[in-house]
Amino acid sequence: MASEINVGQMRVLVTGASGLIGKAIEHVVYHEGGKRDGEEWIFISSKDGDLTDLGQTKAVFEKFRPTHVIHLAAKVGGLFIHLKENLRFLRENILINDNVLQTAHETGVTKVVSCLSSCIFPDKTTYPIDETMIHDGPPHESNFGYSHAKRIIDIQNRAYFQQHGRCYTSVIPTNVFGPFDNFTAENGHVLSAVIGKTYKAKQEGTQVNVCGTGNPRRQFTYSLDLGRIIIWALREYKEVEPIIASVGVDEEITIKEAVHMIAESLDFKGKIHYDTTMSDGQMRKTASNGKLKCYLPDFTFTPVNEAVKMTCDWFVANYDIANK
Ligand code: NAP
Ligand code: GDP
Repeated sequence: MASEINVGQMRVLVTGASGLIGKAIEHVVYHEGGKRDGEEWIFISSKDGDLTDLGQTKAVFEKFRPTHVIHLAAKVGGLFIHLKENLRFLRENILINDNVLQTAHETGVTKVVSCLSSCIFPDKTTYPIDETMIHDGPPHESNFGYSHAKRIIDIQNRAYFQQHGRCYTSVIPTNVFGPFDNFTAENGHVLSAVIGKTYKAKQEGTQVNVCGTGNPRRQFTYSLDLGRIIIWALREYKEVEPIIASVGVDEEITIKEAVHMIAESLDFKGKIHYDTTMSDGQMRKTASNGKLKCYLPDFTFTPVNEAVKMTCDWFVANYDIANK
């Protein structure tokens, strides 16, 4: 499935732009020369409208009249908030996605790029997972609400293409981290939560408590790299089917290895305790970036240890404004 897109005059609306990935896209657009002639970029957050509400969603599209949309707005969080709030993740994300996609269609938006996630993949599967396998069996039970809501975006995209010829597509990031992440112990994803906890432990002279065994494996992708790929997808990727936007399978590391990178970056010399009474979540969700590599053979990802160091440096330098 593919449709023609016009990349001449573009007014790009980025939903969820105050978050981790939106801030990365904003950085690439304004500080890496990512903005091209003929493009206007609009970055919005929930302060511009609650996208779970159809009336407010319509008002946002009426006000900004986008031709293209990067749709990032979502209820997002780490493993431990998912375990508590599956229903909320399901409902809020279904509402946001349905409101955004249908309003985009009704107002003539020619292209939408939404974000799925590698945690929506089937739990019982073979590895590496690729884009053709996302609906092949139930997702991991820890985040089934978020996962089903995200899977439906892919169904919606296919239906908008089939019925209306729309080029609404999606990218599938793996675990993303970087500046402007959620560094709270309660709601953050693993890297940002452990950065916050390690920084605090260093200040207070205490141990760091890491959840679970440290044995699960993850592919960590730096938010700036993902931002560059999403902008490419908006301009160049013509398929409706999703594309995995991640570091490769060879870059997959254990939580323990990631924790050690954080300790080194923050120069933390204290004790690291693994609380094995806490959930490990999914043990692995290894995803192939082979399709992306076919499209972008020369794309280079920031090595994870360098990206962890840059994220830790950002957190320390921006401690006052960081979400911690
Ligand atoms: P984030 O930092 O949590 O930011 C979420 C954004 O969504 C914020 O701008 C937030 O606005 C906005 N938002 C939330 N509820 C909203 C609502 N009801 N109405 C309007 N806006 C709302 O998320 P992120 O990590 O950047 O993730 C962006 C996208 O990538 C999401 O679709 C997520 O599912 C996907 N993704 C993320 C990861 C990851 O590891 N972070 C991995 C794979 C996929 P406020 O700031 O105003 O609340
Ligand atoms: P996931 O990749 O979708 O499972 O989400 P996370 O980014 O929250 O990563 C969860 C993995 O990191 C699990 O194996 C957790 O046991 C482990 N982990 C270790 N410490 C923490 C922590 O402080 N917060 C979070 N969210 N996960 C942690």
